[in-house]
Amino acid sequence: NEMVAEAERTGQPSFSFEYFPPKTAQGVQNLYDRMERMYDFGPKFIDITWGAGGTTADLTGEIVTQAQTYFGLETCMHLTCTDMGEDKVNDALQRAYKSGCTNILALRGDPPRNKEKWSATDENFRYARDLVSHIRQKYGSHFDIGVAGYPEGTDDNKDEEQLLDHLKQKVDLGASFIVTQMFYDVDNFIRWVGKVRDRGITIPILPGIMPIATYASFIRRAKHMQCGVPDHFMSALESVKNDDAAVREVGKVLVADMCRKIVAAGIPHLHFYTMNLAQATRLVLEELNWMPTTTRPRKHALPWKQSLGLG
Ligand code: FAD
Repeated sequence: NEMVAEAERTGQPSFSFEYFPPKTAQGVQNLYDRMERMYDFGPKFIDITWGAGGTTADLTGEIVTQAQTYFGLETCMHLTCTDMGEDKVNDALQRAYKSGCTNILALRGDPPRNKEKWSATDENFRYARDLVSHIRQKYGSHFDIGVAGYPEGTDDNKDEEQLLDHLKQKVDLGASFIVTQMFYDVDNFIRWVGKVRDRGITIPILPGIMPIATYASFIRRAKHMQCGVPDHFMSALESVKNDDAAVREVGKVLVADMCRKIVAAGIPHLHFYTMNLAQATRLVLEELNWMPTTTRPRKHALPWKQSLGLG
């Protein structure tokens, strides 16, 4: 991935933002407003998530097109494969291709909640690796392909070695970068990166960072993702939990510290789960002093902008 390679070369940390398709038309408008505002924070690219089973196919495609062609933001479209037929997968890829999007995060997709025992919709797509090879087969090197990584295991698999085997398969089939599940335990993340590298996996690893907006959402998401919360996070946040402003202040320092530690360990690019909100991510970036300034302007080198003389 060129953007991450640049950060590796220059030593200047870079970051990206993840957004999800909102449920209402007003929500979509709000998201566009926010994306426009957060463009000025200088993300290297943005991600748009994909609703399981293709439930957001149209909207995800529309937001990708909008971001890519109107806002001039490099985009990465998430795509799941095991909960839809091949036609839907192909339609989504074609739409992304036509909109100028060159990055796909290739995922398996979560099993539906109401099903005890789950089986793939299309036998050709059982795992994310099948989507990775499908994209490579159909589009050669047009897309950079991201895949998911799990420093703390997944819902359905806590066997670290097995998960690393499966991660390696995705990489061997053509993945270009890894985006991790959210986490707060940096020591464990750094240990896990070591294990990934020991497997001979050299592609960039983008740690997934979830800024802290409120105490309730922090606890809910950590529980939902079954991610470990270090003691110092709990003790600092618990004492201010009823004061949202204080939670944001304490939270931004905790998350910024964690980002610094990750960068110091040699990881040059961080991926922020924005939850479609600007504030919590902005506070962390300000705390890190990573927001663009007049002496350090945000850099975007999109060919279409340059060709219009706007670059
Ligand atoms: P896989 O890599 O296929 O792994 C899934 C399971 O299968 C693992 O337990 C793995 O060990 C096992 N496995 C893999 N290969 C093999 C094999 N050859 N033999 C046996 N077992 C194997 N979901 C969405 O619906 N939309 C999104 O936009 C979305 N975005 C995400 C973004 C990130 C960064 C992450 C981390 C997850 C995201 N998810 C999303 C959730 C994801 O779809 C689920 O976590 C899903 O359960 C696993 O997807 P995967 O791509 O990691 O699957």
